[in-house]
Formats: sequence, C-alpha cells, structure tokens
Amino acid sequence: MPSSLRRARAALAVLPLLAAPLAAQQPSPWPQHSMERPKPPVEVAPAQRLPVPAPAGALVLFDGRDLGWWESDDGAPAKWRVVDGAMEAVAGAGGIRTKVGFGDVRLHIEWASPNPPHGEGQDRGNSGVFLMGTYEVQVLDSYRNDTYADGQAAAIYGQFPPRVNVTRPPGEWQTYDIEFRRPRFDSTGVLLRPARMTVRHNGVLVHDDVALLGPTSHRVRAPYAAHADALPIALQDHGHPVRFRNVWVQPLAP
Ligand code: MG
Repeated sequence: MPSSLRRARAALAVLPLLAAPLAAQQPSPWPQHSMERPKPPVEVAPAQRLPVPAPAGALVLFDGRDLGWWESDDGAPAKWRVVDGAMEAVAGAGGIRTKVGFGDVRLHIEWASPNPPHGEGQDRGNSGVFLMGTYEVQVLDSYRNDTYADGQAAAIYGQFPPRVNVTRPPGEWQTYDIEFRRPRFDSTGVLLRPARMTVRHNGVLVHDDVALLGPTSHRVRAPYAAHADALPIALQDHGHPVRFRNVWVQPLAP
C-alpha cells in the first residue's frame, strides 16, 4: 500500500471520533451575514390581541412600571427610560439584563421599532433579546428594510434567518415567544447538547426547535464555551430607542 494511502486511511479512521462532538455545530452552507443568502418571504402576520396576558405562575419581568428586575450589563442600575408603559433603550446607556438567571425558559416579550424610522439596514431599530446573555434573537426594523438574512428581525443572529418576515411597521407592537433550551455541557466543559430555540414572531412560527451553532456573534461563528446553567436574559443597546413591554417568563422543566 502506498504510504500516501496509508496516511489517508489512518486519517479516515479518526474521523468518527471527530464527527461526534462536531455534529452539533454543522456550519451553515451560507457565509455569515451573506447578502446573497435568500431573504425570507414577507408575510402579514394575523392580528393579535395585545398585550398578551401572562399565564398564571409566570414571572413578570416588566409590567410597564419600573425596571426592578433589571440592571445594566455591568451590574450598575439600569439606565433605560420607562415611557408610556414601555422600557426604551437609551443610546450609550448600555444593555440591560435581568438580575437573576434563567436556563430552560419560555419568554414572551413585546417590542416596537422607533417611529418614524431612521437609518437603513442594521442601523434601523436594532436591539436584541439575548437568552443567557449569549444567544440573540435579533430585534430590527425589518419592515421594508433590507439587510442580510441572518441579521433581520427574528433571526438567530448570524446563524439562522426566520422562515418568514412578518415584521410589523415601525411603532406597532410586535411579539416574540421564545422557547429556549440551554446547551448542556459535561463536568469538563465538553458540549453534550447544543442550545435549541423555537421562536414565534407575531404569533407566526419562524424557528422550529433549531439547534444553535454556538453563541451568536457578529462576523464570527464562535464555538460553544461552557457556562453556568442559569444566566440573565439581556436586551441590547444598539444606539436606537427600541421599546419593550410586557416581558414574562415561565421556567421550563429540564
Ligand atoms: Mg441586535
């Protein structure tokens, strides 16, 4: 047997070992943030009765009155505005996060883009809902506003576009209902199971039990890094006065 073939066979022999842990992180066939990636079709979501009442037993993280559940990303008091029953991102104030952590959770949150709109692409009504401060469902004014598919509203940022674009016009209240399963790591930090998300935007299913590729990030597909079982839910300050209201969660049984 030629030595080159021997080397090839030896290399193939270790492939199954490599394939198992990597299987959860199959890269997308599309380069991250590709403008060529097909855009989800635009649809009009059915009307919803808003705000959606919190079910019995849910933890209400924002009821329109105060930021008691929230703090700044750096642990200082939250510096967002409370206005007209909503909390509004303040440019330069930094993101906010819950003072307590969550793992597997169902999250309901309502948001509205600034009206009138300003800017284009990613520079228009940008914010984000971060599960465990790490896994972002993008908030963006994607109403008649073009951007890369994996960065539009309801995208799992930099990874998966939503199945459809059901973004409502600026100023109108919209909903995300997110069922999140945290990633599982073994005691040495090896990934056992990736994070998973099911997302409804304005009541329309846009992600169905998607396995995340890792932490969401800009211009990099970062690998999973072991973290705690419970971490804060965070909202992004991307310099735009995006509003949020009626935030509630139901922790899910593992
Ligand atoms: Mg964002």
